[in-house]
Amino acid sequence: MKIPPQKEAIRLSALLKMTLGEDRFPIDVASLAKEISRNNPDPIDKIAGVDFPGFEGMLRPNSSKPAWHIVYNDDPKYAGRTRFTMAHELGHYQLHRPILTEDNYKSGTLESNALFECKPLCSNEWQEAEKKREEEADTFASFLLMPIDDYRAQVAGQSMSTELFNHITNRYGVSLTAAALKWIEFTDRQAVMLVSRSGYALWGRASKSAYKSGLFVRSGMALPELVTREIDNSSLGFLSNLPIERPRGIWTFSRGSEPVKELTIRSEFLDKAISILEFEKTHSSASHLDPPEWDTFDQFNRSYR
Ligand SMILES: [Zn+2]
Repeated sequence: MKIPPQKEAIRLSALLKMTLGEDRFPIDVASLAKEISRNNPDPIDKIAGVDFPGFEGMLRPNSSKPAWHIVYNDDPKYAGRTRFTMAHELGHYQLHRPILTEDNYKSGTLESNALFECKPLCSNEWQEAEKKREEEADTFASFLLMPIDDYRAQVAGQSMSTELFNHITNRYGVSLTAAALKWIEFTDRQAVMLVSRSGYALWGRASKSAYKSGLFVRSGMALPELVTREIDNSSLGFLSNLPIERPRGIWTFSRGSEPVKELTIRSEFLDKAISILEFEKTHSSASHLDPPEWDTFDQFNRSYR
């Protein structure tokens, strides 16, 4: 039977809370993976770092006995992402793997071809068929590493700031991208995040209320020249501690140009920048648009009218 990824993450999270209490953050995914798989016919018996350029992570069956390996990129460039990658692979193990037994190794080696090789979070390059599985593993990782009750307690009543995002990334041991996505997913404000390189959005995501009001990010959209210049002239890290107030006329989206509060970080990872924008004005649902049913992880591969 298929297990919903949130549900499985919440179950494991409750287990950790029971055994480790309030002291469980950031989650030690390697220990958890070994502990929960120990009594399965096909445990996770090896978790290893490798250093292949462009490689993110993999769940790989052992070739000579029923067991699995988690392999992740341990290049220091990936440092902020390894925990999420491991949790993602654990997600594949819990949600998607075929259970292996001695029967699969009768000839001495594994005959089936079960391999989960994973591309970076939110990449647009996934094949449609793999996409759902990848999204489920990401959802699992997000809910395992940042359980929603604890997350809500951390951000309750706080405005978006460098301090808040640093607190989230430190507490949960995740990258700013993962923290920003979580914030966008759960904020009741109208907000969007964009990941860009060289002045163009690679991908982005709108909060639920922003999306309902007709706001979304097209990949390939140009960032305001002013913002691109500021990113180019900044050193790594946040461009400001508090959000920069941008007047109308700087940022333009599907529903026009409005004043926004902007927090941008220049990332050392693949020369990307992440901008988080909060819209001051609240709009009700756009009447001229009939947005498709909300799908948290799928705003970029769809075509909109
Ligand atoms: Zn994957």
